[in-house]
Amino acid sequence: MSAKLLDGKLLAQQLKDELKEKVELLKTKSGKVPTIKNILIGQDDGSCAYANSQKKAAQYVGIQYELVTLKEDIPQEELVEFIQNLNGDPDVNGIMLHKPVPKHIDYRAAANGISVEKDLEGVNVTNIGKMIIGDTKIIPCTPASVMAHIHSTGVPIRGKEAVIVGHSEIVGKPLSLLLLQEYATLSVCHIATSEAGKLEEHVKRADILVVAVGKPNLIKGDWVKSGATVIDVGINRVNGRIVGDVEFDKAEQRAGYITPVPGGVGPVTVVMLMKNCIETFQYQNSI
Ligand code: NDP
Repeated sequence: MSAKLLDGKLLAQQLKDELKEKVELLKTKSGKVPTIKNILIGQDDGSCAYANSQKKAAQYVGIQYELVTLKEDIPQEELVEFIQNLNGDPDVNGIMLHKPVPKHIDYRAAANGISVEKDLEGVNVTNIGKMIIGDTKIIPCTPASVMAHIHSTGVPIRGKEAVIVGHSEIVGKPLSLLLLQEYATLSVCHIATSEAGKLEEHVKRADILVVAVGKPNLIKGDWVKSGATVIDVGINRVNGRIVGDVEFDKAEQRAGYITPVPGGVGPVTVVMLMKNCIETFQYQNSI
């Protein structure tokens, strides 16, 4: 058996077409254009590539997008002041601060400085807290992309064994809340799971497996349960090629559904930022 491929480019295109229609409607209703200000401190190749994809997606759906590059040695106070000015600017609907930030910058403090109503990635602690009680439409983009892929299979989540490998603040932890909200039975694995030699036994139980670690081939193909939905978030460069965290060729023989890397989670993540901008725009304009 060979798994059905979850084509992220195709899903992203469908979502972008839906959002484009919505943006047109919102522009007509409000007479305004949803606008994103994206902040990059210094130069980072990964962030620049991400920003480029965001810009293209924004152009497609009709959102105005501006990347502001701040100097590498900007003091924390100046960054906070810059963000506060954007918070107070009625023409800005959504703000995002790229990671990684330079070492002298306190990312957590800066993220908390982004207005709750303009926080495109859901990184302000208030928005993180709201996720716990299921009271926000601003869902962090990568977990939102993972959920969109799982939903696209049509396989019900309720009662399924879901296993997340990786418990970072931007992927694993918020994703655990989203899967719990849909009544998955959840295990979250991390470095200590591997240290204890228990990663394989957890992965083997997963009906839904999401891997977000950043280590190529961490998940062996023969660990994948027959018919499982496998979402590979990992991005690794190996011999000039981009690969995920799952041993794809073998996993594909066992899984029911699987995301490719590249072309799986990534393209949909970008679209989720647009979706969040539309949410903040609607909230700010009461429409
Ligand atoms: P982090 O480095 O923040 O988190 C990695 C997680 O993996 C940590 O929880 C870590 O545990 C865990 N981990 C590390 N080694 C092991 C191991 N041997 N066994 C089990 N768990 C382990 O990474 P991110 O969450 O930011 O990103 C993860 C991957 O996803 C990266 O490859 C990144 O490039 C990619 N990514 C892709 C996105 C997309 O849209 N496609 C978006 C964001 C990220 P501990 O903390 O306990 O050490």
